Amino acid sequence: MDCKIKSIINEIRLIIFGKDFPCVSHYDVIIVGAGIIGLSSAYYIKMRDSSLRILVVDKQPTYAQGNTGRSAAGFRDLFTSDINFNLSHSSIAFYRHVNENELDIGMKFVGYLFLLPEKNDLDEYWASLSKKTPLREIQESDLSKIKALRLIPDKETGDLISAPAVTHAVIGENCGIVEPDLICKYSCSYRRKLWYCGTRSDL
Ligand SMILES: Cc1cc2nc3c(=O)[nH]c(=O)nc-3n(C[C@H](O)[C@H](O)[C@H](O)COP(=O)(O)OP(=O)(O)OC[C@H]3O[C@@H](n4cnc5c(N)ncnc54)[C@H](O)[C@@H]3O)c2cc1C
Repeated sequence: MDCKIKSIINEIRLIIFGKDFPCVSHYDVIIVGAGIIGLSSAYYIKMRDSSLRILVVDKQPTYAQGNTGRSAAGFRDLFTSDINFNLSHSSIAFYRHVNENELDIGMKFVGYLFLLPEKNDLDEYWASLSKKTPLREIQESDLSKIKALRLIPDKETGDLISAPAVTHAVIGENCGIVEPDLICKYSCSYRRKLWYCGTRSDL
């Protein structure tokens, strides 16, 4: 097609659809993979510089068809390293805000249970972590009421993974589950404003 005609068509598209119309020939950033990593990368890049034109491509017909869609999507902020704690704690706060104010992403604070043996190196760690995030200790007497839970491992399991008997547990209350496809939908629902999330068979 003649160059002049092409540029006129592009001009018309821009007038009708705005600058985020997908059929443009230039993108500043192209992200391969419309899972949670690709989509959140697109989201944060766009947040930093809203003038950037970003394209997310995926070999699947829509987003969240890879590991993200298969995931149990459990989240927790119980980590031994500061960096993991800070990353997960701030992400949970961000998605809590989204869930309460912008889009229901199926966030449920059902907790995250760590089963512990009588003597373990982590007791000190739980004590310091409890100052930063809500934790609750559960005693053996309450754990034993959970029918599906075996506090003393059978011989095969004990030998296989050297699992000691469970005497107590810690439940993180700032932990739970989300709907992974809804988190991706949250990113994609802003595509008119933020970027085009397309699907292409290859690059
Ligand atoms: C069964 C299961 C349970 C899990 N449970 C949890 C959990 O409870 N909590 C938790 O935090 N994590 C969990 N995970 C891990 C979590 O799902 C992944 O860490 C996360 O989804 C990775 O996101 P991603 O965007 O990197 O990958 P993906 O979601 O796999 O996205 C990658 C995308 O790239 C696309 N792609 C790949 N190659 C190409 C190509 N050549 N061209 C175009 N597109 C391409 C794929 O189609 C896919 O859509 C679980 C994972 C599984 C499988």
